[in-house]
Amino acid sequence: MRYAETVLDLIGKTPLVRLHSVTKGIGATVLAKVEYLNPGGSIKDRISLEMIERAEAAGLLRPGGTIVEPTSGNTGVGLAMVGALKGYPTVFVTPDKVGEEKRAVLRAYGAEVVVTASSVAPDSPDSYYGVSDALVQRTPGAYKPDQFSNPAAPDSHYATTGPEIWADTDGLLTHVVIGAGTGGTITGTGRYLKEVSADRATGPVTVVAADPAGSVYSGGTGRPYYTEGVGEDMWPGNYDPAVPDRLEAVTDAESFEMTRRLAREEGLLVGGSSGMAVVAALRVAKDLPDDAVVVVILPDSGRGYIGKIFDDAWMRSHGFETRVPPKGSGEHPL
Ligand code: PMP
Repeated sequence: MRYAETVLDLIGKTPLVRLHSVTKGIGATVLAKVEYLNPGGSIKDRISLEMIERAEAAGLLRPGGTIVEPTSGNTGVGLAMVGALKGYPTVFVTPDKVGEEKRAVLRAYGAEVVVTASSVAPDSPDSYYGVSDALVQRTPGAYKPDQFSNPAAPDSHYATTGPEIWADTDGLLTHVVIGAGTGGTITGTGRYLKEVSADRATGPVTVVAADPAGSVYSGGTGRPYYTEGVGEDMWPGNYDPAVPDRLEAVTDAESFEMTRRLAREEGLLVGGSSGMAVVAALRVAKDLPDDAVVVVILPDSGRGYIGKIFDDAWMRSHGFETRVPPKGSGEHPL
């Protein structure tokens, strides 16, 4: 019999799939790493397991303890899933711009969800960081993994995401394109891929960071944008600015159009940060030779955005176009 002992054993080892339609006119091979195939539905399952197992090993989280974390949703799902299996209650703090569907998912795993305003300064006691700190202080046995600064987050990508991409491309990838939120994915994955390819005859892998226009990574001030899970209004400890070789700022309009195209043209129902990363990947790929291999990470599923990016009324009321170019038309929002 072949079966996993628990869902935690199903985390990672996600496949690469080639993009065919949105890449029309591009000679390079563009491969998408499909992270929504993780059991919790996103790339964040990887860091959730690593952060909790390290905390247990270090004695920071003990039986009877509670996991408390400020999260835009996906890390919450990962932690709620890990908490459910290991017997820890979970409490999550989310900003109000996060979709209600995502909060309902957390509650379905048995978690408690606290909602805070997105419009307050990150250092305010009412911000989602401030509220979560207060919760940790008044909950006995509370442990806050802190995905923004916990080294287990980039380390889990260094140990799993990076090696999977290297092995699945037989060491032939030339570029990797990754959206930056807390920075854990790009720091760990990018660092591994640069190190493993450092002495390669064809040169090291080029690491490209994608972020929403307005975020600090591409020189913004944290101006509001609607793409969830990526971009920051401050510099988190897990983002190592030495890892990316190139940075691409992508607008919400470009990200959302591509997100909708990925579902209709490639059959990939993914979230807005995936559309964002693909826009950046195509900008990079269009100037590359045919033998280049570009890997782009798709962090989560589109299921959490049905009432937003995939809803024409929501799109129009937020000033976004709903027209999708015909399949294979070669129109790129670049
Ligand atoms: N996309 C989505 C949907 C996410 O939830 C996150 C995590 N914040 C990211 C991308 C970015 O990953 P990281 O935090 O590792 O930079």
